[in-house]
Amino acid sequence: MSNRPIYLDNHATTPVDERVLTAMLPYFTEHFGNPSSINHVYGWETEAAVKKSREILATAINATPEEIIFTSGATEANNLAIKGVAEAYFQKGQHIITVATEHSAVLDPCKYLQTLGFEITILPVQKDGLIDLNQLEKAFRSDTILVSVMAANNEIGVLQPLAEIGEMCRGRGVIFHSDAAQAIGKIPLDVQAMQIDLMSLTAHKVYGPKGIGALYVRRRNPRVQLAPQQHGGGHERGMRSGTLYTPQIVGFGKAVEVAVQVQATENQHLTQLRQRLWEQLSVLEGIYLNGHPTQRLAGNLNISVEGVDGAALMLGLQPIMAVSSGSACSSTTTAPSHVLTALGHSEQLAYASVRFGIGRFNTAEEIERVGQHVISTIQSLRKQKLIV
Ligand SMILES: *Cc1c(COP(=O)(O)O)cnc(C)c1O
Repeated sequence: MSNRPIYLDNHATTPVDERVLTAMLPYFTEHFGNPSSINHVYGWETEAAVKKSREILATAINATPEEIIFTSGATEANNLAIKGVAEAYFQKGQHIITVATEHSAVLDPCKYLQTLGFEITILPVQKDGLIDLNQLEKAFRSDTILVSVMAANNEIGVLQPLAEIGEMCRGRGVIFHSDAAQAIGKIPLDVQAMQIDLMSLTAHKVYGPKGIGALYVRRRNPRVQLAPQQHGGGHERGMRSGTLYTPQIVGFGKAVEVAVQVQATENQHLTQLRQRLWEQLSVLEGIYLNGHPTQRLAGNLNISVEGVDGAALMLGLQPIMAVSSGSACSSTTTAPSHVLTALGHSEQLAYASVRFGIGRFNTAEEIERVGQHVISTIQSLRKQKLIV
């Protein structure tokens, strides 16, 4: 393990916390029952475990347990939210507002709806990655049914002003959805105070298992209608059929429980590491911080580097650290990151970018080593360029 690169890609996914794994294990073997089985103890005990996780998640976002719909992850939750609202409210209107820096799991369902005749307004962002609330104000129309703005960006960590957006939506009777895949457990979330109607969650970005997520669906003031996107046994109040994945649900609950408990101290630790890394790197000329300097996830540092080739930079970093250039979800394509180009960057700066996703298990020593190696890599690439 020790000669593998230092893991700094915690926005792509995180390892499962030992406490989470321990909580999950009995639910694969001993407690394997179907939580829908109402006639025996095998069902009762897993039903109780699911209930407990539902309560933990609801408490973490100030919702009620009935408002938590388990899904396979945030991608499915986003699809259910966006397509589900579009289908349920299309007679009221067919206009949706979202943002240029959203995850593809929000942008692509919107693009799909466009092919069905829905109109999508994609708001630009400012240089710091935040939306301009005046522009949002102007984007509302009488036929707007949904606004979808993420809580925390997966590439540049920027935190959007959810409470202000929620207030604007509620005042106009427009449903507000937020993709909080990167935010759950990392920043305080309150669906009442922030007036959020739908919120997508996932476990594997917060030291829980992959393949489990949830959609918060508001039940009162207002009661949000959703057309199910998967039909079957009528699980999850009919909104998402399919046998509940008990071990993953238990792990999701435990992961969020731990994350909420350690949130304040962990954020302090991550902020220190991030600031140290930036302190090291910003000594060099031509290095830019992407995204708002403080209105961001504690563990996110995203930089663009002038005067180097993006692919060469990544090759140089790879032996020492596992980092990402742009979004992991688009790293198989060669297009520059849509998030970085939305900030107004040139193609070169968008390509020559590095996302450091610092997480729970990173240490100060690792960050020192990473900082030194990034600096020496950039310096040698720039020198080679001068010689060539
Ligand atoms: C990871 C991520 C997703 C996708 O979540 P899955 O649970 O992997 O489907 C969606 N939105 C954002 C912002 C993410 O970071």
